[in-house]
Amino acid sequence: MIQTAKLEKYLQSLLKTDQFRDYGPNGLQVEGCLEIGNLVTGVTASLRLIEQAIDAKADAILVHHGLFWRGQDGRVVGWMKKRLELLLAHQINLFAYHLPLDAHPELGNNAQLAKRLGWQVQGVFGEQDLGCWCDLMTPLSEAGLQQLLHQTLNREPVWVSAGDRPLRRMAWCTGGAQSYFEAAIAAGADAFITGEISEPQTHYAREMGVAYFAAGHHATERYGVQALGEHLVQHCGLRHQFIDVENPA
Ligand SMILES: [Zn+2]
Repeated sequence: MIQTAKLEKYLQSLLKTDQFRDYGPNGLQVEGCLEIGNLVTGVTASLRLIEQAIDAKADAILVHHGLFWRGQDGRVVGWMKKRLELLLAHQINLFAYHLPLDAHPELGNNAQLAKRLGWQVQGVFGEQDLGCWCDLMTPLSEAGLQQLLHQTLNREPVWVSAGDRPLRRMAWCTGGAQSYFEAAIAAGADAFITGEISEPQTHYAREMGVAYFAAGHHATERYGVQALGEHLVQHCGLRHQFIDVENPA
């Protein structure tokens, strides 16, 4: 068991939350019970995740995508009412860590995705240094990279080919980081891997000769919260369960 306030303080210093300019508040977003023994992690604070956390008797939910984002109109209606109502009725604390959880050098989404692909971060690029790159000892073909991503993430990526040259420098940024593609190109990438693609990136890939792989926003961001949950088991004596609410996006 750990006090809710103490856990928030611990996470604030572990994830260095005050070093990021983010799109929503990092930390405790919805206050629940005062002590936490049972933690559920998930990618997004959706209604399904909250319902499953209630079944699992969670005292706290920790997610990558919380409830509050810049640009919302602030009304508690519709889906927001339903999610908040359940959290408050069951006194479940909601913690959310967005960019700090992408960037953490060991527990972050980028580091954890690399670990599963067998890569090690050698450098960073892009806004707030959120993108990562590494040079492979043995270059991959585009088809080889496609297969590695498909097998590792259990989801077939969207693949924009840039010709069939060997890929040595891999650049990646989990989630919705299509806007990092040009910075990846500037960092010398042969291939860029993120969660999503928008229309313009297809043309940049073909015209700049850098292969683009959109491996799933959800699929690429499943690993940070899991690593963080396990860290909290070791360091704060919590029980932890990751709940994967499947999402094709
Ligand atoms: Zn995301």
